[in-house]
This record gives sequence, C-alpha cells and structure tokens, in this order.
Amino acid sequence: MIHKRIQELLLEDRDKLFIDAEKVAILQEDHTLEHAMLVLTNVRYSLIPVLNKENKIVGLVSLAMILHKITGVEQIHMNQLGKYKVRDVMRTEFPIIHQDTQVEDVLNELVDESFICIGNDEDEFVGIVTRKELLKRINFMVHELTREYDFVEKENSK
Ligand code: AMP
Repeated sequence: MIHKRIQELLLEDRDKLFIDAEKVAILQEDHTLEHAMLVLTNVRYSLIPVLNKENKIVGLVSLAMILHKITGVEQIHMNQLGKYKVRDVMRTEFPIIHQDTQVEDVLNELVDESFICIGNDEDEFVGIVTRKELLKRINFMVHELTREYDFVEKENSK
C-alpha cells in the first residue's frame, strides 16, 4: 500500500514533473556545428537532445563534444565548424523513457544523467524529465509520507 502511495506522490501532477517538448531546446542531426554552437551558447544548457527529420530522438549534444571535434594538437579550428554536422559528434548511447517506464527505472537512469528524454511509442520526442524536478518530488514525498504514516522501527533492523 505504501508502495502505491509512493508512486502516486512521485507522479502526481505529471505535467509539472515533465518539461514538454515545445519548451525544450533541441537541435536537428543535420544542423552544422556552427549553428549548434550558437544554440548551445544562447540557451546555456550543457547538453541538449538531437532529433531527426521524423522528430525521433537520435542523440544528445554538448559544447564539449563540438569543441573536441575541431580541436587540433595546438589550436581550435573554428573554421571547421561549418564542415561538420551535429550527427558527426553527438552521443548516440542514451536512455529514453516511455509512458510505461517504472519509476524505479527512471530513478536509476537519473543517477548518471541530469535529464532523460521521454519518447512516445514511436520514439518521437515528447519532452524531458530532469534530476532536479524529480529530487524536488522526492523531497515532497518524504514530507508527505512522514505526515501520513507512523513509521515503526523493526526489531531486527539493527
Ligand atoms: P536543470 O534541472 O534545469 O538543472 O537541467 C538539467 C539539464 O537538463 C540541463 O543541464 C540540460 O542539459 C537539460 N535541460 C533542462 N531544461 C532544458 C530545456 N528547457 N531545454 C533543453 N535542455 C534542458
């Protein structure tokens, strides 16, 4: 019963927990690195999702990945920014969560990622869930549970 209440508290008001696709800064895989650098610098997020023409999530890209591509032994070749596309540098191994993903799995993924992309059944991009929002929820959940329940220490817990 308490397990069900935990799920309820974590997922209550889902709209507030998830950031909708239209509010998320994204890049297309065929954008040039020059465009990508401009977008990342302007939005000030370190990592953002990459979509293809069918609106499917195909990667994640950061300024560091872009700079790594154009950095030589002694200098950064800014003139090469127009030569490469986002798909040439993006990270392609990343988790995607779906409507039916268990809360435990989302929590596990958020140990290593500061946000996770949410896809529909066709993996089309519908939004993100951030570690920050989920931590706020966990804080709220702990407060609610201690308000609603009396916790009794088990005899053999030590
Ligand atoms: P925050 O929870 O705001 O610290 O965000 C954590 C990470 O999620 C950021 O560093 C970004 O990589 C990503 N992120 C959060 N909000 C957005 C957004 N609106 N657009 C793109 N990426 C975002």
